[in-house]
Amino acid sequence: MHFETLAVHAGQHVDPATGAVTLPIHLSTTFERAPDGSFPRGHVYARETNPTRDALEGCLMLLEGGAAAVSFASGSAATAAIFQALRPGDHVVIGEDAYYGTIRLLREIFAPWGLSYSVVNMGQLNEVAEALRAPTALVWLETPSNPLLRITDITGVIALAREAGARVAVDNTWCTPMLQRPLDLGADYSMHSTTKYLGGHSDLMGGAVIARERDEFFDRILLQQKQGGAIPSPFDCWLLMRGIRSLPYRMRAHCQSAQTIAGFLAAHPAIEAVHYPGLKSHAGHEIAARQMSLFGGMLSFQVKGGRAEAYRVASGVQLFTRATSLGGPESLIEHRASVEGPHTRAPESLLRVSVGLEHPDDLIADLSTALEQIA
Ligand SMILES: *Cc1c(COP(=O)(O)O)cnc(C)c1O
Repeated sequence: MHFETLAVHAGQHVDPATGAVTLPIHLSTTFERAPDGSFPRGHVYARETNPTRDALEGCLMLLEGGAAAVSFASGSAATAAIFQALRPGDHVVIGEDAYYGTIRLLREIFAPWGLSYSVVNMGQLNEVAEALRAPTALVWLETPSNPLLRITDITGVIALAREAGARVAVDNTWCTPMLQRPLDLGADYSMHSTTKYLGGHSDLMGGAVIARERDEFFDRILLQQKQGGAIPSPFDCWLLMRGIRSLPYRMRAHCQSAQTIAGFLAAHPAIEAVHYPGLKSHAGHEIAARQMSLFGGMLSFQVKGGRAEAYRVASGVQLFTRATSLGGPESLIEHRASVEGPHTRAPESLLRVSVGLEHPDDLIADLSTALEQIA
């Protein structure tokens, strides 16, 4: 089936009890035993399984083309569950511009707990190979990167990781399974903050891990969900299923507008640099064209000047909302270095944009007016 069809139907079914066409939200925390003490309908207690969450996980598994999926209360909980499935003493290799919250998890929670990690430039395969010489359990990949939209060659890194006997997890949040298929490229896990494009409406928090194979390591991730307990609420599962139904159409519009806006910015005299893999001038354009079906709805740009000029542009917009996060219908703009704090690698002149679903001409007019502040 095509992706659009899966987005509408995967995990969905007409409710046999009532004929309801949309998925019911099951709020019950506990489920009835049969007189013989068994659970013929499969559910016992809602931390372990819940029918609405089951439907969501079935949907995510099919969308990503995996063997199993497990959902969490946030993207960070999903990431943490993968790290928790490792053992104290294990080594992780991660890209220097992975989501700052992921590196923060390693630095402040998992290093004290016993994981060691190397932060590398994933664009330099020799650097990755060098880091993999420490016996490595997991390579964490994120492409495009945040906030510089650097592109990592997924197949190249996977080949090195395989050789070194390491598992590979890809944070696929910015691409969604519509634009990028890490499991098809040989990754072991695709992780999502479903808070972003999959939810798509800036109104739910969630995370997920989809596995290429169901093995003992996956069972340890699953144990983190069921016993660690960072589960998504039934309502958030339902909202996410609702959001996913329109994902392909939203993604196409996000990507098309981002490309148009990137082109506008690249030609603007007040702009120093535009980071968008859809631009032919982007260093990762060719690899992106190979491993992504479209170039995404996220971009960043650097204004001429520094922090003060970037702030002036961000304060000059009317239609964009000054806020963090991404993937919603409304366009967002943020000064990334301010969000990330002291450990940031984001240049002071950089603004990150999540291109929403407004008409791109209106967004360009708004940016154009804001850029007059520094012309
Ligand atoms: C937002 C985000 C996360 C963290 O997800 P939460 O749902 O906020 O916990 C992880 N990775 C990427 C790429 C993100 O954008």
